[in-house]
Amino acid sequence: MAAVVNQDICIGCGACVGVCPVGAIALNDEGKAAVDPDVCISCGACVGVCPVGAITLE
Ligand code: SF4
Ligand code: SF4
Repeated sequence: MAAVVNQDICIGCGACVGVCPVGAIALNDEGKAAVDPDVCISCGACVGVCPVGAITLE
């Protein structure tokens, strides 16, 4: 399981990038958040801070 960002919903605020304890999230070339599933530990912190509900654990 890993966090997945819905690219159509993400507004690129960067909140999730700052709370990830393992640095698994970065903003991509389009200014949207993207998770590296090999680094994500599925802690759920990013899900809680996203203001638009763009992140789910899948
Ligand atoms: S679930 Fe946790 S480890 Fe995975 S991307 Fe979100 S904050 Fe980072
Ligand atoms: S917190 Fe949500 S809206 Fe903000 S960059 Fe992350 S996924 Fe996108």
